[in-house]
Amino acid sequence: MPEDANPFESLQEQIDDAAAHMGVDDDVLERLKNPERILETNLSVELDDGSVGVFRAYRSQFNGDRGPYKGGIRYHPNVSRDEVKALSGWMVYKCATVDIPYGGGKGGIVIDPREYSEAELERITRAFATELRPMIGEDRDIPAPDVNTGQREMNWIKDTYETLENTTAPGVITGKAIDSGGSLGRVEATGRSTMLTAREAFEYLGKDLSSATVAVQGYGNAGSIAAKLLQDDHDATIVAVSDSSGGIYNPDGVDAHDVKAFKNETGSVTGYGGATEELTNEELLTLDVDLLVPAALENAIDRDLAAEVKADVIAEAANGPLTPDADDVLTGADVIVIPDILANAGGVTVSYFEWVQNRQRFYWAESRVNEELERHIVGAFDDLVECYEELGLPNFRTAAYVVALRRVLSASEEAGRWP
Ligand code: GLU
Repeated sequence: MPEDANPFESLQEQIDDAAAHMGVDDDVLERLKNPERILETNLSVELDDGSVGVFRAYRSQFNGDRGPYKGGIRYHPNVSRDEVKALSGWMVYKCATVDIPYGGGKGGIVIDPREYSEAELERITRAFATELRPMIGEDRDIPAPDVNTGQREMNWIKDTYETLENTTAPGVITGKAIDSGGSLGRVEATGRSTMLTAREAFEYLGKDLSSATVAVQGYGNAGSIAAKLLQDDHDATIVAVSDSSGGIYNPDGVDAHDVKAFKNETGSVTGYGGATEELTNEELLTLDVDLLVPAALENAIDRDLAAEVKADVIAEAANGPLTPDADDVLTGADVIVIPDILANAGGVTVSYFEWVQNRQRFYWAESRVNEELERHIVGAFDDLVECYEELGLPNFRTAAYVVALRRVLSASEEAGRWP
């Protein structure tokens, strides 16, 4: 297994790499490398057997210079203070890369949700929402789904907040079910931006996506939808997919929909009948494919594994799947990495559209959501390439951070210092 880089240190290194090309004062930079505030709380919740479970939970508000804090809530046993800090910082630079009017935040509960009943998860989620209530709000901090959370959890948080505040405020949270004020296209949005950025990168490189082979690590929301769209809209061949139990391979391609249906039924992609071979996650990540989509968790590829990567293009559907060391190796090997803060930014971009619709109480057709998403993502890709070429930057990630850091810095300078 790859060694674990501290994701918060990775974030700070990424910011430093960009700042080195910009001439930013160290004291100004220090503020943009650290969160503004963090809630750390211990939720005590009655479990079904009458005992009390205690769950550590966090919410980090990293930077609010460009608008309300924005970012998901993750349920995972490996959630930690540093992970939440990193994820909240990545949200700041993600929202700035795609130029939507938000700062960045992130939350998480240290829990393996598979070990709890639905009723227990509801009580745990409502307990967290109660702790979050003073710090969130439609104009303050707007949570959303992340790893192991979805519409169900968002609906509970919305209901808890609205009940306690005695109001209706659907824009306090995004990623809701459609009937609770969600947006069409939100579920698919992360995978859609991964597909769109891969399309743009292939076009930039003069390569053909329709003859491309693709490997996808992680087959949850982002990975499975990226695979379906790459297959359906661009005729790409999905040769391998994996999840936490392992991976499957077929050189002639698997059907992305069929694999998802199999996973929904059995809980995993392993054992899928259409595969010719099973493989480990490491083997999948080093397959000789045209496009690699890491869509699971942080630190999937470290320096050692990066040296074995054979893909031409990597689209980061996950947050932080490459360690900074891995980035250096891949930059040296001329592998094009579409950074997470652009490749998976579709999720938060459609969250923004959801919030706009909530505020206006006027709901869009799915075609409008997808058109606006494409406009934002393609525009952000073009800004990134322009900056990459203009400054002769080493890779796309540094270019994305330069674009984003310029926007955050400018908002911060315009606000000035007070008190
Ligand atoms: N959790 C997603 C992300 O990492 C979505 C955040 C949001 O919609 O606010 O970008």
